[in-house]
Amino acid sequence: MRIAAAVMLDFCGDVLQIMLPNGDPATLRRVLDTHFAPSDLLVSAQEIAVPRLFVSDMDSTMIGQECIDELADFAGLKDRVAAITERAMQGELDFVSALTERVGLLAGLPEDTIATCLADRIRPMEGARTLVATLKSKGCRTVLVTGGFHHFADPVAEDLGFEHVVGNRLTVVDGKLTGGLVGGIVDSAVKRRVLVEEALRLGENVPTLATGDGANDIPMIEAATWGIAFRAKPKARSAADGWIDRGDLTAILSLLGIPRDEWVAG
Ligand SMILES: [Mg+2]
Repeated sequence: MRIAAAVMLDFCGDVLQIMLPNGDPATLRRVLDTHFAPSDLLVSAQEIAVPRLFVSDMDSTMIGQECIDELADFAGLKDRVAAITERAMQGELDFVSALTERVGLLAGLPEDTIATCLADRIRPMEGARTLVATLKSKGCRTVLVTGGFHHFADPVAEDLGFEHVVGNRLTVVDGKLTGGLVGGIVDSAVKRRVLVEEALRLGENVPTLATGDGANDIPMIEAATWGIAFRAKPKARSAADGWIDRGDLTAILSLLGIPRDEWVAG
């Protein structure tokens, strides 16, 4: 199989590009990891180019925090909730039951706590705006898909420039969270389905990019043409075509071969 690879050599965006007429991507990833770790790299079974679709996870990928952990802090439950989040993202717990349990712990919290939490705690990941704005400038559709909540994801998506959001909805009655969710839960299978359906809408075999950091991102990362694990948990990292271990989100632009003078500040 013909394979291509891009490896960031420094923080200035210099990228080593490798083309092999024959090879196994998994072997090349392992060899490059051995020689360059910690590294930012992408190994591809086709020529690396600008994707037509970008689908990304939100928490700890496009923003620096886990929203549910920060929100739980307002209920005095951060340690308890964060411990469950960590185990779920490591792939040690079933995502849906871990989410249901954590949401249940938030019952009774005033809805307006979320706006306070957003303003005080939630910050974009470095490079997020530039990544989204630059990909959009190249004609790439951008979708934020999260196992977190629309209460957070809608304003985050607007801030970062994403064109579409898929997430979970917290139930609110009389201005307070009930501890439940409305409708079906966005889990790893839904994240993957969003990627596949959005891609099909754009055409046959369009190149796609997916980024995430946790175990529930793995099916989406595997389904994408280029699945990139961002400062990820080990299981997500080992399932990906590449990873960002050192740089910020703009490293992805360098790996895709988009020169710095074509980046768009978001
Ligand atoms: Mg995440």
